[in-house]
Amino acid sequence: MMSIPFVDLKTQYQNLKEDINQRMQSVMENTAFILGDEVSLFEKKFAEFTQSKHCIGVSSGTDALQLALRVLEIGPGDEVITVANTFIATSLAISYVGATPVLVDCDKEDYTIDVEGIKKAITDKTKAIIPVHLYGQPARMKEIKEIATEHGLYIIEDACQAHGASLDGISAGSFGDIGCFSFYPGKNLGGYGDGGAITTNDEHIAEKLRMLREYGQKKKYYHSSKGMNNRLDALQAAILNVKLDHLADWNESRRKAAALYTELLSDIPQIETPHTREGAEHVFHLYVIRHPERDKLLTYLHEKEVYAGIHYPVPIHLQEAYVDLDYHKGSFPITEAYADTILSLPLFPEITEEQIKEVVSCIKEFCAKEV
Ligand SMILES: *Cc1c(COP(=O)(O)O)cnc(C)c1O
Repeated sequence: MMSIPFVDLKTQYQNLKEDINQRMQSVMENTAFILGDEVSLFEKKFAEFTQSKHCIGVSSGTDALQLALRVLEIGPGDEVITVANTFIATSLAISYVGATPVLVDCDKEDYTIDVEGIKKAITDKTKAIIPVHLYGQPARMKEIKEIATEHGLYIIEDACQAHGASLDGISAGSFGDIGCFSFYPGKNLGGYGDGGAITTNDEHIAEKLRMLREYGQKKKYYHSSKGMNNRLDALQAAILNVKLDHLADWNESRRKAAALYTELLSDIPQIETPHTREGAEHVFHLYVIRHPERDKLLTYLHEKEVYAGIHYPVPIHLQEAYVDLDYHKGSFPITEAYADTILSLPLFPEITEEQIKEVVSCIKEFCAKEV
């Protein structure tokens, strides 16, 4: 039996060990721990990578979202529209600035925010939309931009799962007013701890964000606003500078692995494989299938030491943390149905054809038994 991890960060570290160790050592020898050259270099490179004018390195994806809302002066009394099918950090950031998350169901086909749902959720308190490029596929940004323009709303992209994704040639993180990224270790681009980044084409917003992430100061000890400490760590930036050079190749490997899964799973009628929309460059942060007997399938795979996962088992509106929003079971039927049937298969750039075939053969064994 072959044990197959959900992600394999060890192989990646082994492949890059010399470069990463040397780069970290240099930060330590120069004792350049806070901001400095590694952070500036990373910001420059990541701005280029995402086709954005500016990039601001911050402490996490959650902080990127929180700072994006703050810099747009969104707060108490304001509503921000986002999707019920996401990681909870998207809505936590909205709550953190004192605004109210207004949730929308997800699209039947690709799991991103439902465009018609956005239109219905708009009120005169709505200030912004946070589409999430979930699993690595951009949300329907053309339609979302039209709605935002018509109603005078900001767009903050949650691109925490979409480093390098694009739609009609436009990069995730550069569609809206502000793009937010996470470098949590398991993301397509991950550090060795927490980290994040904000991208924008607006110089004024970029300048304010640089102050907000550093105690609201423009010059040391002179504070023009009540900022916080939300900086990207220099050691993380050093690691990210090494890894960013490989990201395009890694995304390509993820796409190839996803294509092989889809091909091998195509003859199992109970399984729904992911849809990539026309014009979308999906980066497969996650490869998510659906199966009506998901829980049994997951248990079966774990018994075979195939470590699949669920992203996410409980939609935002059914989380205990959000009972105050007054949603209930039935509020978002598609998101709820999918929460019970989705399954994320092992996927990482270094996954081998043999490992993919083993995962599929275990799934086939299960499906043959179930019929
Ligand atoms: C990972 C993630 C975040 C949060 O990023 P952290 O760096 O863990 O704070 C936010 N939104 C989505 C969709 C994510 O996947």
